Formats: sequence, C-alpha cells, structure tokens
Amino acid sequence: MYLDLSHADVHSVDGRIFKITFTPDCMEHACRCLRQSDRVRKDACCQYGADVFVPERQAILRRATEIASVLKEDRRDPAGWFDDAEPEPDPDAPAGIILRTATADPDDETSGCVFLQHSGERGCGLHRAALVHGFEPAEIKPTVCRLYPVSFDQGRLGLSPDFNHYSCAGAEGPTVYRLMREAIGEIFGASLVQELDRLESRLGETRLRVLPTASGPQEDRLTSAD
Ligand code: SF4
Ligand code: SF4
Repeated sequence: MYLDLSHADVHSVDGRIFKITFTPDCMEHACRCLRQSDRVRKDACCQYGADVFVPERQAILRRATEIASVLKEDRRDPAGWFDDAEPEPDPDAPAGIILRTATADPDDETSGCVFLQHSGERGCGLHRAALVHGFEPAEIKPTVCRLYPVSFDQGRLGLSPDFNHYSCAGAEGPTVYRLMREAIGEIFGASLVQELDRLESRLGETRLRVLPTASGPQEDRLTSAD
C-alpha cells in the first residue's frame, strides 16, 4: 500500500492516509483505548511519552521558564522532563540517539507523558506553554508529536504504529492527510505537499474500501475495490 515519492527525504507514503478519517479536534474527543476494553482515557496517545531528538530536547530546555510556568508545581524542574536512562541508538537521528520524554511515574511506562502534568484541562503542556506565552508550538513540540497520527520512519510516511489503538482512528472527520497536511508541509516542505496533493487526487478516482480482518475492526485495511 506504500506509494513511491520523488522527495529527497520522504521516499514513500502509505496510501491509507488519504482515505482513513480521524477526529478533527483532539481537545473535544473522548479518547478511548480500544485494546483496553474501550477504557476512556484523555490524551491516550500520550500515555507512553514520546521520542525526542537531542536538538528537540535543547529547544524545550531553552523555553524551560515558559514551560515550567504552566506545569504543576511538582513538575517544574526540567531535570525530571526526560528519560535519559537508555537512549536508543539511531544512526539517522541527530547526535545518533533518540531520547524519551519522562512519564509521570518513572516506574510505570503507561502513566502518561510528564508534559500532560499541567494546570490546564487536558492536552500537551508544551503546546499549552507556547499558546500561553505567544510562540509557535512547533518550536518546542517533538516532531513525532506534531505528526501524530502520521509517522515517519526510514523515509516512509505512514500511520503511527498505535494508530488504531484509539477511538480517534476512523472517527468522523477529515482524512488523516487533510488533517495533517499543514504539519507535513511545515516539517518536510511545500514540494512534498504538492506531490501528496497530486497523489491524493489520483487516489480519489480509485474506489477504496475498508476490509475487516480476523483480528477485528481495529485492524481494518484499505484496499482497492473490485
Ligand atoms: S490523537 Fe486520539 S488519543 Fe491522542 S489526544 Fe487526540 S483523540 Fe486522544
Ligand atoms: S510532548 Fe506533548 S504531545 Fe508529545 S507525548 Fe508529551 S504530552 Fe503528548
């Protein structure tokens, strides 16, 4: 289902991003964990924290004062914001490693990203800090979070591995591509968006349908209709 692209960094794209819909507004969506008995959990996709590149951590720390100002009192020390214990080696990553944001409970990897621990109702504390202090969220938000539910790995743009774990996947709304088109353009540039737009309109003429599999509706796939 991956389609070739001519872009220098993004070599292929999963065609499902042009077809599968997604909730249009996370802040209004009652997130449910489909693989945990439909448990309601706000901001469920942030429960494990997120990958962070070294320059992204530096960008976050440059805004430490603004970020700390929106976090709960016991979360304001930047020393507790990252899990540096086991950096993942990655030759393609800046500085050759990938770090993680810390989770609220270091001993519980599902306890939620530390940046959910803020004074607002819900959502990402980094995003909130940017809005409160009048700068662009993209300055400090990790790329993986800016792209979600799209993922980028080894030159391939696709759906995040946990995409269909949550109720937002397939919810009524725009397609994943339409929702994420602006973020994709900001991260990879206008030329990629132009190419993806062309692919989108080409695929629009091909009928696609969702096929259930033995593992249930969360594993639905898009395929060309006969
Ligand atoms: S992406 Fe889905 S799980 Fe994550 S906050 Fe938005 S609606 Fe909730
Ligand atoms: S940095 Fe923000 S968007 Fe990313 S996992 Fe943490 S709370 Fe969620």
